[in-house]
Amino acid sequence: MSSLKFITVLVPALNESKTLKELYERTKKSIGSDWEFEFIVIDDGSTDDTFEILEELCRHETNIIAVRHYRNIGKSLALMQGFDMAKGEAVVTIDADLQDHPEFIPGLLEKLEEGYDLVNGWRVDRQDKFIKKMISHLFNILTKVILSSRLHDINCGLKAMRRRVYTKLRLRGDFHRLIPVIAEMQGFRVTEFPVKHSKRLQGKSRYPLIRYTGILDMLSLRIGGDDRPWRSFHAFIKPAFVFFILAAGCLFIWLFLNTGDMRTDENTRVLSTLTGVFGLWCFFLSTIFPLMGLHLDIMTRYGQLKDWRTKQIDKIIGLMIDD
Ligand code: UDP
Ligand code: MG
Repeated sequence: MSSLKFITVLVPALNESKTLKELYERTKKSIGSDWEFEFIVIDDGSTDDTFEILEELCRHETNIIAVRHYRNIGKSLALMQGFDMAKGEAVVTIDADLQDHPEFIPGLLEKLEEGYDLVNGWRVDRQDKFIKKMISHLFNILTKVILSSRLHDINCGLKAMRRRVYTKLRLRGDFHRLIPVIAEMQGFRVTEFPVKHSKRLQGKSRYPLIRYTGILDMLSLRIGGDDRPWRSFHAFIKPAFVFFILAAGCLFIWLFLNTGDMRTDENTRVLSTLTGVFGLWCFFLSTIFPLMGLHLDIMTRYGQLKDWRTKQIDKIIGLMIDD
């Protein structure tokens, strides 16, 4: 296995002006002269001075590419924007908030050089709030069950992957949380690497605590795979139809049990209540499923098109003209 020479470090950043300079300096120091690297930051519609900080950094450093989106389009699409531009034989993704430590980048790359296609960071001693850790733990268990993954910490922002992996990714919705699982599904060699994790030093997480879209993404990946042309609305309509038939069946049974002499019988009353509750639950699911499908469809319609992503760019600095 040939060793890597040129690396892309890719950073999605939404209002992270306070940490970007330090992130760059520490990345540069830890990579040293072992690999050549470019540092791509996607400013995903920040409203603070993130881009001004990047402009200042670009005045002194020649290996930085800074891209500004007109508006916030989400971490998955910010990463896709970076993958479109990356030239590295491997990409290392790292969050801008310094919760992950750039000092671990060499470790990830060395592991990649052992012959792996993707090395996923594993925050063995995660420093988030208890409730966030629990939700994340549940997400990891669900991923194991629904998508048969073997990994412990799917959504660590720090990961390294070879070019053949990142050029194949078609992230939609919030699929960035599932990158290592997608790589596993595509048959790539995926492994984990223990990394250090810190508390967020400034600002709050850019995500709400309850991320129901994570479960939708998981179902979407399970049903439709990662890159097939697939309409989630159609897939969700099928179970909705089954639930609707069940609800209608329950309604008939409930009406039958509540007519004539039968309704005075104690057992019949219990059965009638159970049928009613189950019927209502089925009716609820039959209405919510199409809405879920529609939601996924809307969220992901444009994201997969490179042309659409290019149109989200307001400004680029540091990219050579011949690119
Ligand atoms: N981020 C982004 N666009 C978004 C949300 C987040 O570029 O719409 C970036 C954010 O600036 C950070 C990384 O994605 O660099 C991870 O976000 P955050 O730290 O808020 O996530 P958490 O660590 O809470 O999971
Ligand atoms: Mg963070």
